[in-house]
Amino acid sequence: MSDCIFCKIANHEIESDYVYEDDQVTAFRDMNPLAPVHVLVVPKRHYANLVDGVPAETLAALVHGVDEVAKATGVDKTGFRVIANTGDDAGQTVHHLHLHVLGGRKLTDEGPEGAGHAE
Ligand code: AMP
Repeated sequence: MSDCIFCKIANHEIESDYVYEDDQVTAFRDMNPLAPVHVLVVPKRHYANLVDGVPAETLAALVHGVDEVAKATGVDKTGFRVIANTGDDAGQTVHHLHLHVLGGRKLTDEGPEGAGHAE
C-alpha cells in the first residue's frame, strides 16, 4: 500500500533501525519502546492484521522472524512476549500486520506492555 508506513519501512523507502530481514519479513525497533527490547516483525507484503487472509507460509515466516529477533537481541535466553494488536478494541494504530517482540526486563500483566502499545 503506497501510504502505509510499515510498507515503506519494509521496502526501505524509509530507513529504520533494522534487526532482521529476509525475503518475506522485516524486523525493526519500535520508535516508542516499552521495554529494553521492543522490535516489530512485519511481512513485506501488506496485510491489515493477523486475520486478513494471511497465508500459512507468511505466518511461519513471521514466527521465524520472531525467533531470529529473539536470538539477535538475546531475549531467547531470558524470555519475551509476542503481541499482535488486532483491530480497534486492541488499540491497533498501524494497519499493517506486525508482531511486537517485547523483552529485556520482567514484563507485567498490567501496564502498556500488556497491550503492546502506549495508552
Ligand atoms: P499497534 O498499537 O499495535 O498498532 O502498534 C504500532 C506500533 O508501531 C507502536 O508501538 C508505535 O510506536 C510503532 N511505530 C509507529 N510508527 C513507527 C515507525 N515509523 N517506526 C517504528 N515504530 C513505529
